[in-house]
Amino acid sequence: MTLKEKLSEARQQKSALFAFNFYNLETLKGVLRAAAERERAIILQLTQSSIDYMGLTPAVSLARALLSEYRVRGWIHLDHSNSIDLCHACLDAGFDSVMIDASERPFAKNIKITRQVVRLAETFGAHVEAELGYVAKLGQDTERQGFTDPARARIFVDETGVDALAVAIGSAHGFYRGEPKLDLTLLQKIDETLGIPLVLHGGSGIPAPQIRGAVERGICKVNVATEIKNAFMKQVKRSVNENDNIDLRTVFPPAIKAVEAIAASKLDILA
Ligand SMILES: [Zn+2]
Repeated sequence: MTLKEKLSEARQQKSALFAFNFYNLETLKGVLRAAAERERAIILQLTQSSIDYMGLTPAVSLARALLSEYRVRGWIHLDHSNSIDLCHACLDAGFDSVMIDASERPFAKNIKITRQVVRLAETFGAHVEAELGYVAKLGQDTERQGFTDPARARIFVDETGVDALAVAIGSAHGFYRGEPKLDLTLLQKIDETLGIPLVLHGGSGIPAPQIRGAVERGICKVNVATEIKNAFMKQVKRSVNENDNIDLRTVFPPAIKAVEAIAASKLDILA
């Protein structure tokens, strides 16, 4: 089943896939253990910085090998690329899906770039996600308003032919200072206007009832990144501080477990 088929199935069933970012072998293992235990399909995501860190071929090979090892059904996705070249390289490397994020560019430019990537991905039979509106990135102002406008989104989808759209409805990347409040009324309007799978970025730290509410109103993919790397590094720090053992084969397993626990807690929101 392609990711496109899977996400439209999710939309019909008012369910969603979790998309977890991974950064190394250990975070990948943690996420896959949680998915395997629950027999759940997931999306594995890489950002440009994780690809720079791991190497494109090693990262995608590792993900494929471990999906098979853990018998988890999963799709490999490029998260937040602002480069058509990187999208191309990832499609060449066998990614199932890419996100072209030109959301900070002017509307017409966002359409033009996204359309180019959609055409490119078609030749690979791959899935494309784009973003419209302002979802604050790490270090950016979370107070700024830039929610997705349904009418503009309709034009954007018609002009680009994109498969899935990341929407700005009150979520942000990284941790939240106060409790986030998703605009579920707006989400429902966007869903009714577009009729395609919608994506929630900044899933870390959004309370479970709000995630469920969003999934009932058209969100078919929920991204979780910050909590994964945070759980991993916090546990590594704790282990290193607690004792003198610096054998990484002893230090890392509890950190893998911490990632597994976070991924499990997310998956169980939509169980
Ligand atoms: Zn994101």
